Amino acid sequence: MRVAVTGGGGFLGSHLCEALLRRGDKVVCLDDFSTGDPANVAAFLSDPAFELVRCDVSRSTDVRGAVDAVAHLASPASPPDYLRRPLETLAVGSRGTENALRLASQHGARFVLASTSEVYGDPEVHPQDETYWGHVNPVGPRSVYDEAKRFAEALTQAHRSYHGTNTGIIRIFNTYGPRMRPHDGRVVSSFIVQALGGDPLTVYGDGKQTRSFCYVDDLVRGILAMLDHDEPGPVNLGNPVELTVLQLAELVLGLTESTAGIQFHPLPVDDPTRRRPQIIRAWERLGWCPEVGIEDGLLRTVRWFAARPGNVAAALEA
Ligand code: NAD
Ligand code: UDP
Repeated sequence: MRVAVTGGGGFLGSHLCEALLRRGDKVVCLDDFSTGDPANVAAFLSDPAFELVRCDVSRSTDVRGAVDAVAHLASPASPPDYLRRPLETLAVGSRGTENALRLASQHGARFVLASTSEVYGDPEVHPQDETYWGHVNPVGPRSVYDEAKRFAEALTQAHRSYHGTNTGIIRIFNTYGPRMRPHDGRVVSSFIVQALGGDPLTVYGDGKQTRSFCYVDDLVRGILAMLDHDEPGPVNLGNPVELTVLQLAELVLGLTESTAGIQFHPLPVDDPTRRRPQIIRAWERLGWCPEVGIEDGLLRTVRWFAARPGNVAAALEA
């Protein structure tokens, strides 16, 4: 296959590009590096099966030659990133998704949208399954991301219904692993960087809010399964093991043998209180379930950050 990966220079996108190259596919990575890092794909540049197109996909998704599949991952994903880039986030969810869908339909290619658990907002149903419509504040600070992704889902569904495009929607729950930007503000990268640097871990609110964390290799297997399938979705992809943020902080302190301690900060507005995926659909339709446990995944991620002390120091200064 020849696969176009929008956002291929980001955390998840670069792992997806790597997995596609490893199994013998050709990859066209489209990225403007607004929240990604060229270092994520530097190792692939010498591979003739890899092509990098630096572009803003909200403006265009011009790719030379045919593609068999489009994985649309381009979008800021960390709350500080999308709060810093609100209009760009709405643009890439709407115009960017439209351009990526058009690229797929031009070539009769499979299209997979990287949607998010954020479409469920602050959920009133727990755990969240795909039939739940969500509880989103359309004018709150997070809405630039949540509503962009909800619009992207509607657009994807409309392309399927009215143009016959072979689309699939995945709803990704919190995912972590190597190549997260050390200063992206997400909880796993922040806690690891703080623990390794000896700074107190910044727990927001009372730390009783929950998340369910999926290791990146598991998630990428799920994206590949969806690319190879005709399943329309939406399909939740995530690890259903649920932790409070405080439990995560204690786990990171333990794994890093850090004495940095914990410091409490105000909870951001509209921060969801609970989040856990119901993943029966992913198992029944894609044969997918996560395999990497939280301690194992965190340890791999800690080792990756620990091997890059310069990044950790720079992130703590930022
Ligand atoms: P990331 O910020 O590391 O990657 C996003 C990539 O998209 C970056 O390389 C960025 O430069 C690129 N990008 C953003 N806007 C662009 C534009 N207009 N044109 C071209 N490139 C653009 O984030 P990530 O964690 O790798 O997330 C990837 C996708 O998965 C996103 O769509 C995100 O919403 C979704 N997702 C991620 C998670 C998670 O926990 N990591 C959870 C749910 C959904
Ligand atoms: N969080 C925290 N400290 C941090 C960063 C995040 O306590 O330094 C909390 C945040 O308030 C949320 C959870 O951790 O309740 C997950 O945050 P993240 O930004 O990683 O993802 P999202 O909110 O999008 O699930």
